[in-house]
Amino acid sequence: MKRSHAKFNVTILVLLFFITMLVACTSQTEKLAKQNQFILGTYGHIQVHAPSESKGNRVVQLAFERIREIENLMSATLRESDISKINARMDYSPIEIDRETLSIIQKGIFFEKITEGAFNIALGNLIDIWDTHKEDKKIPSNDSILHALKYIDTGSLQMNNNAISISCLNLQINLGGIAKGYAVDEAVKTLIANNVTSALVSLGGDIYALGYRTNKSPWIVGIQNPKLGQNNVIIKLPLSNKAIVTSGDYERYFIKDGIRYHHILDPTTGYPADNQLTSVTIISDSAIVGDVFSTAVFVMGLEKGIEFIESQSRVDAILITKDNIVHITSGLENKIEIIDSTFSL
Ligand code: AMP
Ligand code: MG
Repeated sequence: MKRSHAKFNVTILVLLFFITMLVACTSQTEKLAKQNQFILGTYGHIQVHAPSESKGNRVVQLAFERIREIENLMSATLRESDISKINARMDYSPIEIDRETLSIIQKGIFFEKITEGAFNIALGNLIDIWDTHKEDKKIPSNDSILHALKYIDTGSLQMNNNAISISCLNLQINLGGIAKGYAVDEAVKTLIANNVTSALVSLGGDIYALGYRTNKSPWIVGIQNPKLGQNNVIIKLPLSNKAIVTSGDYERYFIKDGIRYHHILDPTTGYPADNQLTSVTIISDSAIVGDVFSTAVFVMGLEKGIEFIESQSRVDAILITKDNIVHITSGLENKIEIIDSTFSL
């Protein structure tokens, strides 16, 4: 669940810029409360409109506490988490874990089926090899990749109400492609339960826009230029009660011999997904769907990815290819504004 600072820059700085401008127009009675925290291996940013700043700060704090609970269960790096407990097993006996972790593992397996394997929560070994090599900018050996690929079959997972058993000792779970989206959704639920009707929740670029920013005007979210990075918005779109999640090859990567090795891994090859895409943005009702689908569509590539999103209801996507073409699904026609002339539809 390690995330680069770059991903923070990807959307949040851009968002902060817009939000600062927009907040100027907020009604006088509502106060804006906002906080940043480093959480789930990334930068979290939550802002809410509330009757007073202290009330706002209190609910923002509750939302962060909710995210922290999820991190404590699902992080692959915190030693005490359920996932670390699973990954440290020494035998085949059932491992008791929290129901919430079980439910996200189950959801992960469900999403693996509907994405035809593009999304897989059992890529732990592969993610670890690539992460380790990222630090010294080396490509892992083909043998180590082939070895890791032998242990990604989620068919070896069995679950009941409170425990999981795994019939393959080498398999390692990593929820890095799903937990952040789930945490955003849960943070939003916490805000709603505390009477918040207008908020933005962002975890390393997995964003949910709750309600309207003010006076029935939607929030405006920017998508950044995959080549130039932070503060270079190329697309703007209005959003209300929607999640928007982006996965890109510029978030966490190294370059070796002119080839970019990034963090979105193709479970069929064991290598970073290598196709025309440079970024995938999903707009959906929940951030968990956005988190999973942005990664999965990146793996599927342009044509299959568009076809897949068109087959899903209430989900749209913006795919940017390396030639600066912006591809959108049918639900977004006439809804996005490209503000950078080097990109076109
Ligand atoms: P994102 O930036 O949201 O696309 O998340 C990518 C993260 O999910 C990576 O950092 C890995 O931890 C994990 N991941 C990478 N490839 C996959 C995949 N094909 N299926 C599931 N998780 C993945
Ligand atoms: Mg994702």
